[in-house]
Formats: sequence, C-alpha cells, structure tokens
Amino acid sequence: MDESEKRAHGPRQFDLDRCVRCGLCLNACPTYRELGLEMDSPRGRVYQMAQVAEGAPLSRSYMEHIGLCLACRGCESACPSGVPYGRMVEDARAALEEGSRRAWLVRKARRWMFVGVLESRAALTILGAMAYLFERSGMKRLLRRLARLKLLGGFGDLVQLAPSAEPPFFFSQIGKTFPAGGRQRRRVAFMAGCIANVSFARLNEATVRVLQENACEVAIPQGQGCCGALHLHSGMREEARKLARRNIDAVLGGGFDAIISNAAGCGSTLKEYGELLADDPAYAGKARAFSSRVRDVTEFLVDNVLNHELGWLNATVTYQDSCHLAHGQKIRSAPRELLAAVPGLAFREMPLSDVCCGSAGLYNVVHNGMAMRVLKRKMESVNATGAQIIATANPGCMLQLQAGVRLHGAGQRVMHVVEILDEAYRAR
Ligand code: SF4
Ligand code: SF4
Repeated sequence: MDESEKRAHGPRQFDLDRCVRCGLCLNACPTYRELGLEMDSPRGRVYQMAQVAEGAPLSRSYMEHIGLCLACRGCESACPSGVPYGRMVEDARAALEEGSRRAWLVRKARRWMFVGVLESRAALTILGAMAYLFERSGMKRLLRRLARLKLLGGFGDLVQLAPSAEPPFFFSQIGKTFPAGGRQRRRVAFMAGCIANVSFARLNEATVRVLQENACEVAIPQGQGCCGALHLHSGMREEARKLARRNIDAVLGGGFDAIISNAAGCGSTLKEYGELLADDPAYAGKARAFSSRVRDVTEFLVDNVLNHELGWLNATVTYQDSCHLAHGQKIRSAPRELLAAVPGLAFREMPLSDVCCGSAGLYNVVHNGMAMRVLKRKMESVNATGAQIIATANPGCMLQLQAGVRLHGAGQRVMHVVEILDEAYRAR
C-alpha cells in the first residue's frame, strides 16, 4: 500500500477544515489539563492530522499523541465550529492501523484480545471463570493490599482496575424473553454487551427488572454479541463492521419498539451503525433502521413515562457523566431526572462532571499512567461533594470509579443509575 492509499482512510478534509484553531476546546480536554501540551490537546491533534493529510509521515510521535487521546469527545461538546472530533480520531486510528507496522507480538496480542476474546462467548466464559477462582482464592485481595502499599509498582494500578466476575454469567439469559410487569406497553430488545455478561451480570439483570417494572416485555435476542465499540476506537473498522452486521441480523427482524443499551459506550456505537455501514449496499438501510431504534436505557425510561412508584432511599448521590452519553449521545438530563425521581435521594452535582474519568474502553489498561492521573483529579471532584453514592451510566466508568474509590475515595458506592432505580423499586 502506498502513502496516498494509507491516507485515503484518514480524517476527511472537510472535517479537518472545520477547525479554526480557536482553542475553546483546550480546557475540556483531560490530557491537555494534565500535560499542558499543545500536541496533546484537541487543537494540536487536529493540526497533526492535517499535517499527515498534507503528506507528513505516520510517525511514532503522531501515533503517541493520537494514542494518548481518550476519545472522550469532551472537545466536541466544547467546539463552536462543530468539529466532529470523535469521527476524526477513529479515522486517524484506522489509518494508523493500516499504515503503521506494529511489532509481531503486539499485533498478535491485539488480535487475541479483540477477536479471540471480545467476540467469543466461550473465551469470555473461561476467562470469567478463571477471574472468579482468582478472586475466591484470595489472591486478588492480597494483590490489592500489596498495591495499596506501593509494592507492585505500575502493575498495582492494573490490579485495582481488574473487573470482578459475577457468576452466574448473563450469557445464560441470552435468547430469553421476560414479560412486562402489569399491562404491557412496549416490546424492547436488550443488548447485553460482551464483557458485561461476565463482569456486570447483576447490572444486566437489574436493567431487565427495571424495564419490566416499566411495562416492557424484554427480549434478549439470540445471536447478538459485542457491539464493536472497542474495535472502532482502536482503528479496527472492518472488524467493527462485521460485528455490526451480526447484531443487525440478530435483532432488526424482531420488530421491537426500541433496542436498549445500558452501556453508554456501546449505545453510542450502536447509534452509529448507520454511518459505519453507509457504504455497504446490502446493509446501509438496515443499519439506519437499527440505529434509529437504539436508546440508552436512561433516555428510554424518561421518554416512556417512568413508573414513579419508587421506594425511599436515604442517601446522597453525585453523577459522573459518561463521555459517550454526554458527548457522544448528547444525553445529560435523563440520568439526572431519574435520580431526582427517587424519594429520599439527595443529589449533589460535582464540579466538571462531564470531564472523562479516565476509563475510555481499554485506555486505562493501555495508557494506565495517564488514566490514573485523570482518575485522581476526578476523585477530588467526587470527594468535594461528600456524596455516598457515585452514579454513572456505563460499566467501564463504574470499574474506573471503583478503583478511584479504593485509591482516593471515602468508601462511596459506585452504581449505575439503573441499579439505583432497581433498589428503589425493591424498597417499596
Ligand atoms: S477526545 Fe478527549 S482526550 Fe481526545 S482530544 Fe478530545 S477532549 Fe482531549
Ligand atoms: S477543535 Fe473546535 S474548539 Fe478546538 S480549536 Fe478547533 S475549532 Fe476551536
């Protein structure tokens, strides 16, 4: 592949041209806030993308600055010129994926993770079982203790982030349909995710219960799988397209009123299938139809008249905007409205609630140092509220914030908004 072919997959010129270099995005950018470096700001990254489009090489430095971006899209919300930064960074990473030579071992490891694990129920189940045994043996607790004593170096932070396994895994529910509680008003499909089936099985169950509570029949369509968000954010666009086609085939024919996700990152990608498959004549129309029905669970509940018969929860809560909900899907009020509907729950807004917590898919593993710096700053905002519960709307953010509580917190509970509603319904 020659240099011009590689660049054909990079950010589009009309996207690059929208940036007027005003700098209004700088303070919204977590990496710029940490490093103060133009090259690690949105404006600097757009400039580097433009340089590459004009013929500059795909250098190691370019790869590092684009790689260090959290793809949180905070800059997109701050930008008055409508620079579609999320799409641009995905395009830039796709070009890097095709045009740069990674070490053999790195390529193999990426393939194993993205294809061998995320796309395979069997692999996720085996790894989940191993993680569960690891936890039950007491090893995880021991390692976390050693990490707190700073005896494990950088590995210690990874130990803090390791997700829990929650048997029985939610895979066993895929293919089932759950009846509406009371008179049925909606038929919805629930997208259960990939890792979430293992590590957030209880959250998925709570989501189904809350939807039932709100007069929905909930189907978990057979044949669904990973949405492809992590692939897309890592430049593996063709792999993401393959997964999108699989999910469309599994769900679209069911004639559902809505396709529900409880993971902001996944929901954002599911809503973008129309764009992802725009050039595929066999799937473009189906992808648009699929995306038009996707709803984040918080958005769906607010729009479809929440059952207000909620029990009393005596607690204080703050809310961390998940980037792909606030910046990707432009949903900010729905989760707050749901929390406000719970009797007894006192809400305390944190400063900079829509700045990324550092989770960003696999970012906190790949760029652990920066993710931990961003998390420390986030926990200062959380602690300032004095809230007992940190609510959020994305499983990845929950893992990151749980690590934040262990490292810098005050014993807060980290909960998905839907888990809080579920507790309130059970408290009646
Ligand atoms: S996506 Fe997030 S980390 Fe990346 S440039 Fe924009 S604000 Fe900064
Ligand atoms: S990305 Fe938007 S806010 Fe940032 S410098 Fe360019 S035009 Fe200004």
